[in-house]
Amino acid sequence: MADRFQKQRSKMVDAQLRARGIRDGRVLAAMEKIPRHLFVDEGLADQAYNDSPLPIDRQQTISQPYMVALMSEAMGLAGDERVLEIGTGSGYQTAILAELAERVFSIERIAVLANRARRILDALNYYNVAIRVGDGTLGWREEGPFAAIMVTAGSPRVPRSLIEQLTVGGRLVIPVGNRSSQSLLRLTRLSDDPDDLKREELGGCRFVDLIGEHGWDNS
Ligand code: SAM
Repeated sequence: MADRFQKQRSKMVDAQLRARGIRDGRVLAAMEKIPRHLFVDEGLADQAYNDSPLPIDRQQTISQPYMVALMSEAMGLAGDERVLEIGTGSGYQTAILAELAERVFSIERIAVLANRARRILDALNYYNVAIRVGDGTLGWREEGPFAAIMVTAGSPRVPRSLIEQLTVGGRLVIPVGNRSSQSLLRLTRLSDDPDDLKREELGGCRFVDLIGEHGWDNS
């Protein structure tokens, strides 16, 4: 869909993503296609393709484009998967996942954000996305298991409930650490035993808090 931001979007993909080592062609194509400016407040549309996160409603953020690309690439998607996202936020990352997987389940704890994201995704015809309001640290058992799960908020630990909802071979991408800095982890489930995991560190990051039963307290 051509729009007045297409040039900025292409520049973002070249300068911020390709130049920093993002190689998955499907991720690059999705980020070149999706109108990120529609997911932020109108007053911030001109900054939507900047190399930074931006504020959204309720003191939350839309993540930096590079972080969206890095996490999307780490999910290792081919197109036929069911995936779970924790932290719908603006819905931008959800739209990227909707391009990369067959079916996306996304959980957001703040209802106004979930509702706004739903409206934008509907307007863009992303009908392969289901959004639920609730505590994502518990996962979405009825719809699992998932080939990949992405958590877009910082967690003090890896929620076991999410590992349990991965298929064997499934990947969990999650920032884990303290409230001011985290390490982005990819955990791959190797067998039926949920403790049998391959653990990879993908770099440092800083996310808003994952608040919930297996995350931070809401205080
Ligand atoms: N991926 C989003 C985007 O593209 O706009 C950015 C997400 S923002 C960094 C993190 C989101 O996680 C916030 O909207 C926050 O409300 C949500 N969140 C925090 N704890 C949660 C939980 N336990 N369950 C679901 N959502 C949660």
